[in-house]
Amino acid sequence: MQGIPSITLILFILMVGVGLVLLITSTRTSRQVHSLVPHQYIRRWHVLTLLMYFFSAAYGIYIILLLTDWHFPEELLICSVFLAGAIFVYGVIDLARMTIENLHDNAVNLEQRITLRTEELIASNSELETSRQKLYEKNIFLENVLESLTHPFYVIDVNSREIVIYNKAAGFTGKPGKTCHELTHDSSLPCCGSEHPCTIEEIRKTGKPVLLEHLHKDPEGKNIFVEVRGYPIFDKNGKLTQIIEYVQDITDRKKAEERLIQAKLEAERANKAKNDFLANVSHEIRTPMNAILGMTDLALATELTENQRKYLETVKGSSDLLLNLINDILDFSKIEAGHFQLDKRSFTFADIIGSILPAMKHSAEEKGITLSVDASDKLCEEKLIGDDLRVQQVLNNLIGNGIKFTDKGSVSVRCICHEPTEDEVKVECSITDTGIGIEQGFFDEIFESFRQVNTSISRLHGGTGLGLAISKLLAELMGGTIHVESEMGKGSRFTFVCRFMKDRRSQDRSNEGDREEVILAPLKVLVVDDISANRDLVRMMLEQDNHSVDEAASGLEALERLAESAYDVVLMDIQMPILDGLQTTGYIRSLENYDASKLNSLVSPELLEKIALCQGKKHLPLLALTARATSDDREKCFTAGMDGYISKPFRKDEIIHEMSRALHTATEKVQ
Ligand code: ADP
Repeated sequence: MQGIPSITLILFILMVGVGLVLLITSTRTSRQVHSLVPHQYIRRWHVLTLLMYFFSAAYGIYIILLLTDWHFPEELLICSVFLAGAIFVYGVIDLARMTIENLHDNAVNLEQRITLRTEELIASNSELETSRQKLYEKNIFLENVLESLTHPFYVIDVNSREIVIYNKAAGFTGKPGKTCHELTHDSSLPCCGSEHPCTIEEIRKTGKPVLLEHLHKDPEGKNIFVEVRGYPIFDKNGKLTQIIEYVQDITDRKKAEERLIQAKLEAERANKAKNDFLANVSHEIRTPMNAILGMTDLALATELTENQRKYLETVKGSSDLLLNLINDILDFSKIEAGHFQLDKRSFTFADIIGSILPAMKHSAEEKGITLSVDASDKLCEEKLIGDDLRVQQVLNNLIGNGIKFTDKGSVSVRCICHEPTEDEVKVECSITDTGIGIEQGFFDEIFESFRQVNTSISRLHGGTGLGLAISKLLAELMGGTIHVESEMGKGSRFTFVCRFMKDRRSQDRSNEGDREEVILAPLKVLVVDDISANRDLVRMMLEQDNHSVDEAASGLEALERLAESAYDVVLMDIQMPILDGLQTTGYIRSLENYDASKLNSLVSPELLEKIALCQGKKHLPLLALTARATSDDREKCFTAGMDGYISKPFRKDEIIHEMSRALHTATEKVQ
């Protein structure tokens, strides 16, 4: 190194320095980009990197040699530098080739992808256009649908209550943005309350569609009844944003409903008037019937010629029929009007059968047919609570029909009892006949009122067509049914089912209803009735048993009689002019209870004082004699202070029995 001129040395050091810097930088750069080199270049890259290291190593060795004075053959050095340079240049050029090829391939790929994407874009554009077209058509369709609706349709914003969408039928003449209450109620305040329920608020309560009735104003400002159907519209978070209202004018329907209600009320009024009329007519007919039947009985008990007896028996038979008819009409109208109440008495089924059998046996014998009854079930002897007279009425009708519509053969009655529960008895009575039978098509009809299968046959046999209708209603009131099975020409079977509670009361009380023959010592009796025939009848009946009878034609007259002399019993009609039987009873009882507050101008205090003096402080037995035969009427009599009740038409033994019972009670009251 001593022989090297100083300028060469400076250049040498400079070149070595620059070379080292370049090598260090290249090494670092090579390490940095290594991971980014595409995999297909990686081998080339490694070769170039190796070459770089080789250059570095050769360079280093060369400098060491220079410093150690070891002489490296110059030719070899130059050759190896050239070789390394050639390999390096080859590597760089090959790398550049591959890069350019790759770039070219990428460009081709990119172009293909762009073409593909462009095609896809065109396709989706055309799809978009089709959907836009469809959407447009759908919009037009919906608009047409909305416009074609004959009733108003709105979409309303729930917060501002502004109408957002509406159709022509809505009659929206204001600017968009008008609220629903402004449009349909001409009001600046939202609807509220039960009379004008707000659809939005109602939907808010449940989140479900609602149906409301409202009073709206139409575009001309007229009041109309509307039915509003409200449907909720929610956003994607489930929040109620809008509602749909579909409004239908129901003014005509409302008016029709009102007319219907009015018509129903009128029909009910007419029905009530009919029932009242029937009740009054039957009462009015019952009163003279009482006299006819009673007088006929009295006349039949006297000495008569054969012809006279025949005439009177015919009168009695016809009167009985007439009375039955009146009772049927009255019963039916009462049951239909819902005014009918079953009585509660203690009875056994065997008693009922026993009491109806003699008359029925007689009718069957007259027609030459046999009547057999099987009520041997031990439960038929069980004491039950119910309306025995109504059970009797149903059985009379069914057995009577069996005999009526059977010309030869038999009628058989069979009663079977069941115990559905410990306290209940269900009785099933079947009445089977070998008569004319009923066509199947009439099975339901015969239970309707005034229905007869064959009017000419029925006319032959008599009847009104009310019996089965009443029996069915009674059976239903008793928790049971009636049904029929029949074959034309062979006969019919009617099955009557009814239910009763068992009578758990003591044996003594259940015998209350039993009637024994009563003989009363002669009594002083006052008979009060506005119909003289009825007064005469009672007088004649009682005089037969040596009772002395005074008469009064009104309540007021009765009070006058009571002020004149003392009586043992008063028999009093209820329906009388001026002072009826209930009012008169009230006066008499007010005296016994020292209650002067019930006085009025009709009856002077002096008269009442006289009565009090005359009758003393004893309890005067008062018995109602009335044609008003419902349990309701009976209740009214007892509430007014009467001691007993005899319904017209009555028999003598009924009056005697009731008088004896009332006298007994009066004695108990005094004690
Ligand atoms: P009525 O006997 O007074 O006509 P019902 O209501 O008792 O009225 O009977 C209605 C009709 O049913 C009778 O007219 C008759 O046509 C028919 N019917 C009832 N019971 C029998 C029976 N046992 N056999 C044949 N037909 C009957």
